[in-house]
Amino acid sequence: MNVIEGYSDKILFVDLSKKNYDVLKLNIEDLKKYLGGKGLGIKLLYDLFDEKITPFSPENPIIIVPGVLMGTNAPCSGRFHAVTISPLTNIVGTSSCGGPFGMELRKNGYEALVIKGVAKEPTFLVIGSDSVEFYSANEIWGKDTRETQYYFENYGVASLAIGPAGENLVRYANVISGHRFLGRCGFGAVFGSKNLKGVVVKKGIYKILPKNEEMFDKIRKKGLNYINRNNFTASLYRNYGTASNVNFTNSKGAMPAYNFQDGADPKSFNLAGENMAKLFNTKHHTCKPCSILCGHKGVVDGKELSVPEYETVTLLGSNLGIFDSAIVAKWNDICGRMGMDTISTGGVLAWAMEAGEKGIFSSNLKFGKGDGIEEVLLDIAHRRGVGDDLAEGVKRLSEKYGGKEFAIHVKGLEISGYDPRAAFGQALSFATANRGGCHLSAYPIGLEVIFDLLNPYSEKGKVEFTVFFENLFNCINSLQVCLFTAFAYLLESPLTKYTPDFLLRFFMNNLSKIAVLLIDYSLYYELWVSVTGLNISKKEFLKAGERIHLLERYLNNRLGVTKKDDILPARLLYEPRKSDKENRLPPLDKMLKRYYKARGYDENGVVSKSKLKDIL
Ligand code: SF4
Repeated sequence: MNVIEGYSDKILFVDLSKKNYDVLKLNIEDLKKYLGGKGLGIKLLYDLFDEKITPFSPENPIIIVPGVLMGTNAPCSGRFHAVTISPLTNIVGTSSCGGPFGMELRKNGYEALVIKGVAKEPTFLVIGSDSVEFYSANEIWGKDTRETQYYFENYGVASLAIGPAGENLVRYANVISGHRFLGRCGFGAVFGSKNLKGVVVKKGIYKILPKNEEMFDKIRKKGLNYINRNNFTASLYRNYGTASNVNFTNSKGAMPAYNFQDGADPKSFNLAGENMAKLFNTKHHTCKPCSILCGHKGVVDGKELSVPEYETVTLLGSNLGIFDSAIVAKWNDICGRMGMDTISTGGVLAWAMEAGEKGIFSSNLKFGKGDGIEEVLLDIAHRRGVGDDLAEGVKRLSEKYGGKEFAIHVKGLEISGYDPRAAFGQALSFATANRGGCHLSAYPIGLEVIFDLLNPYSEKGKVEFTVFFENLFNCINSLQVCLFTAFAYLLESPLTKYTPDFLLRFFMNNLSKIAVLLIDYSLYYELWVSVTGLNISKKEFLKAGERIHLLERYLNNRLGVTKKDDILPARLLYEPRKSDKENRLPPLDKMLKRYYKARGYDENGVVSKSKLKDIL
C-alpha cells in the first residue's frame, strides 16, 4: 500500500465553472506556521482573498481541510474543517465536522480541497487520488440529505451532501457527512449557490503513518489514559452525550429559555442527556475514530433517530418553551434531512415567536406550542410562505421587521445555548469570536459554570483565559482533534489534577496571567510533532494558534468588522434574566478594552499593522 509519512504535499483545486482541476504543492512553511486543518484553511482563504468576493459569488472558495492527525488513529481525530465567506454573516465562516469525508479525502493524498466557480447545472463531484469527475445531479436535486447520501454510495465511500435548504440558499443551511454536519455559517447555501449537490470521495489508497511512531504511540496512550479517567470524557459525555450539560447550565441560570428571556426553567431538566438515555434506550453513534463517544442514537416513538445534542435541546427545546425531548429529537431529524443548522433554526423560531407576541411579525409560531413547527421547518427549507423570511436568519429578520434588541446573534450568527449573563467570560468570548455567536471559540463558560473554577460573575481573569483558549482552540482545530479532548488533556495533566481545587481557584481568579502560563497543553504539541516530524517549539505551536486567530480577524477587518460588531444583543447586555434576583449583567465594554490591548487590536478593533507584521 502507498504510505504518507506525516503529511502529503498536495492541495486539490477544483473549478466548477471550467469543469477542470489542478493539484498544487503545499508550502511546508504554511504547515509549520498554521499547523494544517483550520489554520491551513484560513491561510488558503487569505491567499485567495479579495474584498470583492461575496458569499454567493463564484470566486468564493469552499475550502475543506482535514488535519495532520487524521488517519493516524490519534484519539478523537476524525474531524475536518471547512472555511468560506459565510452567507449568514458575510464574514469568514468556519465549521468543523466529524463525518467520514475528511478521513477519506486525506487517504486519497490531499491536505486540502478548494472548490471555486459555479456549475452550469446541478452537479456532484467524485474525487479519487488522481482524478476528479463531474456528474449531473439533476436526478437528485430536491432530494433530502439522507436520500442524497444513499445515492452517492454508488460512487464512493464517503461524501458531503446538501439537502433542499442548501439548494434554496437558506442562509444557515448545513452540509452532511455520514450523520455529522458542517453545521454553522451556512456552508450548505454556498454549495447551493455553486449548483453543487455534493462531493463524493473514492476509497483512499494511502496508509497514513506518523513520522515518529514510537513517540506518537507513547503520547497516544497517555491521551487515551487521560480520556478514560476524566469524569466528563469517560462518564458524562460517553454515557449521556453533551446534553448532560443541562444539569450544570440550567441549575446555574445559563440555559436559555423563551428566546433568552430567562436562563433557567425547572422543566428544562427533562431535556438532560441522563433522561434521554433512559427514554430512548441510547447507543453510541459517533464520529470516527473517537474515544470519548459523545454522540448517541436511540428509539424515539418506534423510530431510530440521532439523539439531540446540548445545543439542539436548548435552541429547539427550552428556548422555544418546549420541554419534550421526543419532540426535539423529531425536529432535529427534520433539520438534518433538510440540511439546516439546528442552532440557527432554533434562534430564528424563537425570534419569530417573540416578534409575534409583540405584534411585529405575523406567523402561527408561539412559545410552548409545538403544533405546526414541522411544517414551518419544511417551509424554511423550501423558502415557502413565512419560511422565505425565516430562511434569512435573525439579523436580517430584525433589520426588516424590528426587534433587534431580542434578535439573539453576534455578527449575524445566532448565539448557541449558553446565557452569557450567567458567565461574564462567555459574554466576552461570544462578542469576540471570529465567526460570530459561537461557544467553541474559547468556551470560558466551561471554567465558569461547568467546572466551577472561575467566578462567573466577575470580570477577573476573563480576558486572559479567553485569549489563551482562543489561541489553543485554534491549535486543536488545526490538528483536527475534537475540542472535548481538552477536558481530559488539560484537567488530567499532573499539575492541574494534583493541585487542590481551592488553590486552583485562587490562582485562576486572582493570578490569571500566571495561571494561563501554567496550563499544560504539551499533549497536543507532542502529537503534532510526532506525526509531522517538523521542528517547532512548544511556544511556537501556541503562537500558531494566535496567528490563525489574528489572520481570521484581519480578513474580517477587511470585510468591515470593527468594534461595532463585537457586541451582544441589547437583551443580553441590559435586560436581566427573569429569574435572576440580583439583576446581573456582563460588563462587556470594560472587558473588551482590555481584550483589545491583549490582542494587539487598535481601539476600533482592527489588528494593528505592527501586530500583523509580527505575527505573519
Ligand atoms: S467526542 Fe463527540 S463530537 Fe467529539 S469526536 Fe467524539 S463523537 Fe465526535
